[in-house]
Amino acid sequence: MKRLILILGDQLTLDSPLLEHFDAETDEIIMIESQHEADYVWSHKAKIALFLSAMRHFALALQAQHYPLTYIKESKLSITQVLKEKLLAMQASHLCCVEPGEWRLKSAITDLASTLNVHLHMPDDAHFYCSNAEFRAWAADKKELRLEYFYRAMRKKHGILIDAHDQPVGGQWNFDEQNRKPYSKHGPGLINDPLGFEPDAISREVFDFVEKQYPKHPGELAQFAWPVTREQALDALEHFVCHRLAQFGAHQDAMWKQTPFGWHAVLASSLNLRLLNPREVIARVLLAYQEQAFDLAAVEGFIRQILGWREFIRGMYYLDMPAMAEANHYQHHRPLPSWYWTGQSKMHCMQDTVGQTLKYGYAHHIQRLMITGNFALLAELSPKQVSDWYLAVYVDAIEWVELPNVAGMALFAIGGRFTSKPYVASGAYVKRMSNYCDRCPYKPELRYGEQACPMTNLYWHFLIKHQAIFQKNPRTRLMTANLAKISPEDQQRIIEHAQIILQNSDAL
Ligand SMILES: Cc1cc2nc3c(=O)[nH]c(=O)nc-3n(C[C@H](O)[C@H](O)[C@H](O)COP(=O)(O)OP(=O)(O)OC[C@H]3O[C@@H](n4cnc5c(N)ncnc54)[C@H](O)[C@@H]3O)c2cc1C
Ligand code: SF4
Repeated sequence: MKRLILILGDQLTLDSPLLEHFDAETDEIIMIESQHEADYVWSHKAKIALFLSAMRHFALALQAQHYPLTYIKESKLSITQVLKEKLLAMQASHLCCVEPGEWRLKSAITDLASTLNVHLHMPDDAHFYCSNAEFRAWAADKKELRLEYFYRAMRKKHGILIDAHDQPVGGQWNFDEQNRKPYSKHGPGLINDPLGFEPDAISREVFDFVEKQYPKHPGELAQFAWPVTREQALDALEHFVCHRLAQFGAHQDAMWKQTPFGWHAVLASSLNLRLLNPREVIARVLLAYQEQAFDLAAVEGFIRQILGWREFIRGMYYLDMPAMAEANHYQHHRPLPSWYWTGQSKMHCMQDTVGQTLKYGYAHHIQRLMITGNFALLAELSPKQVSDWYLAVYVDAIEWVELPNVAGMALFAIGGRFTSKPYVASGAYVKRMSNYCDRCPYKPELRYGEQACPMTNLYWHFLIKHQAIFQKNPRTRLMTANLAKISPEDQQRIIEHAQIILQNSDAL
């Protein structure tokens, strides 16, 4: 028996079930840097650099523990082409790989093993609290798949913030109401920056390669300070808990110009690369809650993101793939405006969100959902193009987490599969939650006309267009209530202005 163990670029943990049963007599590890992974979507330079640097650092960690490793650098072949050559050369009987986070890779690896008649061992990813089988079983008897019920079940099962009577600590499951505050009208004040890391020689070598190989790809590397090792990721976690967690909850949804990280954790890339395990993140936060008497709303709000949303989203991905990638509930087919790749829009909310995305490879949740996502839905953009953009530009983007968030939450492309209604908002919401509108040439209160805010115009256009359907459903009926206050003439003007915007969205 000869086993080839593939470790993918987002599986950088020594706790892998494949390493647990490693047998140096029969097993060999392979890691592959494939150019195809960097350009099957037009990836941000920082995303490519983060993956390559973290992989190279992890290879050193494996070598330090004397694992036999073949590390293929900068290959122009796809992962499966490299694998094929290696499997044949070593006459392997087994190919082992923890279940990949992208369906296309899972299929390609499965197909390769079957073509070569090699036994495939693909264990479920132990990184997550909830296995795919467990999620499927949970979903099987539910009329509606909703985060809240899944999250409660996970809290109970894992005894997280649960009291002696099996009830939620603090008497309620959810403190969302306290977690949606805008910053004061004077702004957020001083925010402790997230911990950044000076690029070392390995990262700098990667940067040179990325600039040379992918010069036209979006984004920049000048601000790159992402954790690329487990030690750095642990330091980033510690820093977040000690200096930022206390403020995390209240201003989760707030936005402010040139405040790219707010009080957010900025830990998603480390979690998704497996530099951090969600259990240790939650354990650390719970410890801080006990020792430092942290506000329960902040702690619960954070734990809900990791134990709730992150696990739920991953479960949905494997439950609904591959159909999720093709879903297009509203049959939207308009192309992505070019400024999604440059930030050069007159809309200040877009300028800031896309601008920081290109600078750091990061935007926080509400920017992703209610700025770039909200616009994409209202402007009837093709879900495939929008999803490819999100997959390309965020350093934490891997399809299992990116696609359900885009298709499910932002675009309603999978209909009401796990949200009761589309997340849409007008410029009034953006104005309330940020200072973006202050000097924007568009006016959030105007629904049509040259100065009308595109978010506002398209919001009302969306409601007018779907009014009949929204009114049939008690969950969405309320959304259209305010339409009755807009005269038929004004509604017609909204529709006419929307046509102009939709056909000229590049010029916004
Ligand atoms: C349209 C859209 C696209 C997104 N694409 C991605 C993506 O590609 N990769 C990604 O990791 N997250 C994605 N998210 C979820 C969320 O926006 C990011 O996890 C978060 O912004 C990362 O920043 P942070 O680490 O500062 O998170 P925080 O806001 O501080 O939250 C803490 C952690 O909770 C987890 N989390 C929070 N919300 C979600 C969620 N909705 N789904 C899954 N995990 C969540 C993340 O691991 C995050 O690190 C997306 C959300 C939307 C609306
Ligand atoms: S006015 Fe409209 S376009 Fe301008 S920042 Fe506000 S929401 Fe964005």
